[in-house]
Amino acid sequence: MGWIDVAAAEAVFQQANLDYHQLKQQALSPEFKAVALNSQANLTLKNQLVMAKSHNVVAQLTGSESPNEYIVIGAHWDHFGAIETETGTKIFNGAVDNASGTAATLEIARIMAKMHQNKPFKRSIVFVNFTAEETGLIGSEQFARGNIIPTKQMVALLNIDGMNVLEGTDYILQYGKGLSEMEDYLVQAAKAQGRSVKMDPRPQNGLFFRSDHFSLAKQGVPSLLFMSLGDTDPDYIAHRYHKESDIYFPEWSLGGVKQDIELIVDIATQLANNGDWPKWKAESDFKTRRLQDRP
Ligand SMILES: [Zn+2]
Repeated sequence: MGWIDVAAAEAVFQQANLDYHQLKQQALSPEFKAVALNSQANLTLKNQLVMAKSHNVVAQLTGSESPNEYIVIGAHWDHFGAIETETGTKIFNGAVDNASGTAATLEIARIMAKMHQNKPFKRSIVFVNFTAEETGLIGSEQFARGNIIPTKQMVALLNIDGMNVLEGTDYILQYGKGLSEMEDYLVQAAKAQGRSVKMDPRPQNGLFFRSDHFSLAKQGVPSLLFMSLGDTDPDYIAHRYHKESDIYFPEWSLGGVKQDIELIVDIATQLANNGDWPKWKAESDFKTRRLQDRP
């Protein structure tokens, strides 16, 4: 898997006597037919493989009536570690991506444990902090094998990947469209807060396919991705996302974090008590796997 930037893509097209931007424009039309580049590339990749051991961290509140049905709430706890450069060690703190999500999982667990003490949830709630997301969703792939909990017993996953650490907003972002009934839960819960649902402003980045819920979706578990980072602070994506500059700033108000935590607790609480098994929508590619498990 790899990427090239636009300038490199332009050069590749140019070598084939093609115009990248012209073709990109033409590709917007349904009549567009693929054009062969007739180019070849030779690459030499020097790789060093390092075996490492890491862990998903999992905790559970056991349901009072249907303990074998699980609402999963998660976030990934890894980032990029540290690298040595000529000017010294660079540490990737990953404050927004995804210390914010990891902290939110803990806070949601604290809130829901208290609720559970007062009035037990009927279904079990599982909190997971996944490892090795940034290196290819490895931790969640392992979790999705169902060794700890069979995926067919998972009602849904609420996955947090980068929170809005600034002021709250009157909307929440939805990733993917027409995928599952979880989208209806999102609309409802947002409405209860007086917020609207806004579609992912950058669908070309395919974020629904790039975070841990994707591992579970492939095994049929419907999910929502909460990724409010970047939209309220365009500077974040441009200058801090996946860089060592993703650090904590004391001036963050965390209003957006509070708002999304409340929304996630709301959806999780409903699912923990209402007995619903949210379905994939008819046009979704993920529905086949779920229907095998839950016809
Ligand atoms: Zn992330």
